[in-house]
Amino acid sequence: MLDLLLPQRCLACGAGGAQLCARCLAGLPRLRPPLCTRCGAPTQWPVERCRECAGRRLAFASARAGVGYDAAVRALVAAWKEHGLRRLAATAGGLLIDVVGKPDATRLTFVPPDELARRWELPVEPLLRRTRETGRQRGLSRPERRKNVAGAFQATGRVPARIVLVDDVYTSGATASAAASALRAGGARRVDVVTFARALRFG
Ligand SMILES: [Zn+2]
Ligand SMILES: [Zn+2]
Repeated sequence: MLDLLLPQRCLACGAGGAQLCARCLAGLPRLRPPLCTRCGAPTQWPVERCRECAGRRLAFASARAGVGYDAAVRALVAAWKEHGLRRLAATAGGLLIDVVGKPDATRLTFVPPDELARRWELPVEPLLRRTRETGRQRGLSRPERRKNVAGAFQATGRVPARIVLVDDVYTSGATASAAASALRAGGARRVDVVTFARALRFG
């Protein structure tokens, strides 16, 4: 509904016509290899673990993102979080299909899963619930972030062995890891994380 009511302006540059104009869409900072195999950070050459994730206990098998979290991407994510812009979700889904390979999984869970689930032909299940409110992650150090979301998720229902966990932004990996940890406690053997955007050089 909001989609129809809001004027069609590019959220990144303000040009009229579309919520994201062709030029800004083409200019989004897609994350292409070489990447860290585990956490998806851009690296100089392919590595199993990078400086950012080496030595960290991460509950997910891999994390991949479509784009780096720059100012334009931040504006887009804020806009669709606030207004639930469906056309943007479709655009983000299309971009992810283009940039991120389909993980070897049988279910997809979390938000906003609809476009990816359809294109990857995976059933979507709400397999996670929050056990408590968590404060904002913004401005917290990495250990504080981990503490803030520890135990904040619980798996619900029957959790399949291989799951794709979808979220909008990967920042420190703390939320993704806490959610993956809950899915694994619920029976998942492997959780692959896919996000639209990824913070670069966090911590
Ligand atoms: Zn634009
Ligand atoms: Zn890494």
